[in-house]
Amino acid sequence: MNLINATLVNLYHICHREMWLHHHGIRMEHTSEVVYEGKLIGETTYNERAVSNRQVELDGVKIDYYDPKTKTVHETKKSDKMEGAHVAQVKYYLYILNRNGINGAQGLIEYPRLRERTRVEFDPENDGAEVESWLADIGRILGQEQCPPVLNKPVCKRCSYYDFCYSGEE
Ligand code: SF4
Repeated sequence: MNLINATLVNLYHICHREMWLHHHGIRMEHTSEVVYEGKLIGETTYNERAVSNRQVELDGVKIDYYDPKTKTVHETKKSDKMEGAHVAQVKYYLYILNRNGINGAQGLIEYPRLRERTRVEFDPENDGAEVESWLADIGRILGQEQCPPVLNKPVCKRCSYYDFCYSGEE
């Protein structure tokens, strides 16, 4: 059973504290308008593609859109910024596919708000080693008893845990 999922890989690249809180069942997402809107866009954009493509689940990891004809993982992000965390998440999917014998797959991240898209390649040797190093570090952080410290970065202002993290401050 795979205890690490794509959400954790994504959060690992944003904030270790958020990843730890999410993993330990402390959830605030339902109160976050940003996350809600993101879900909405994910559910209502490109829904034609949902018909022609397949959802796959490998090692307990669910990939929402994988087109087997073109060997492409499609990921939609509502964000108004292209982020490394999105690429990392898709690289993780490609890693899981590769580990299950599906070689040569690529990723395509689509940003409806930006009308942009970015391709993600996966080199089994280099990218595979990189993903494995993330997984080892994620396991180490999640195993810590203490929640990692607050980031104090601009991203905190848009985070659903903002009140939780900063409620003790003036
Ligand atoms: S508010 Fe900042 S420190 Fe707290 S979980 Fe979110 S990003 Fe991390």
